[in-house]
Amino acid sequence: MRIGFGFDSHEFRPGLPLKIGGVVIPHEAGLAGHSDGDILLHALTDALLGAVAAGDIGGYFPPSDPKWQGADSALFVREALKQVARAGYAVANVDSTLILAAPKIGPHAKKIQASVAKLLGIAPSAVGVKAKTPEGLGLAHAALAQVAVLLVESKKPRRRQR
Ligand SMILES: [Zn+2]
Repeated sequence: MRIGFGFDSHEFRPGLPLKIGGVVIPHEAGLAGHSDGDILLHALTDALLGAVAAGDIGGYFPPSDPKWQGADSALFVREALKQVARAGYAVANVDSTLILAAPKIGPHAKKIQASVAKLLGIAPSAVGVKAKTPEGLGLAHAALAQVAVLLVESKKPRRRQR
């Protein structure tokens, strides 16, 4: 078994689409920064890579590379899943916490859960999506995500180095 943890944050900017967990959420501002600014998928990518000690998202997809500007972050998760499979593991479950002042995540949580589950090829019941407001942190201008993953040894036959 392996455990992985990821963190990400981006700043709100008016006029951008807000994407969290691959779901577009109606809001007057979106998240600026790396690719489409999807904090949940970025933290998930880092959690997956971290679980198999395969580096971090910036190493595979440098934010300085214009190639990744506006890119769909599902791409990053898929690369991380490749690394997980290569190491001989599969995702057992994921838990996440989103920290943002607005919009409310509750009404979108089920959709986010389904989207992340589909991306990972696991059941929605294996994807935790929690949200809270950044009480006392003065972070109304930003959104943060924390993700933990548990990996189990893959049942698929693979060549082992012995
Ligand atoms: Zn990010």
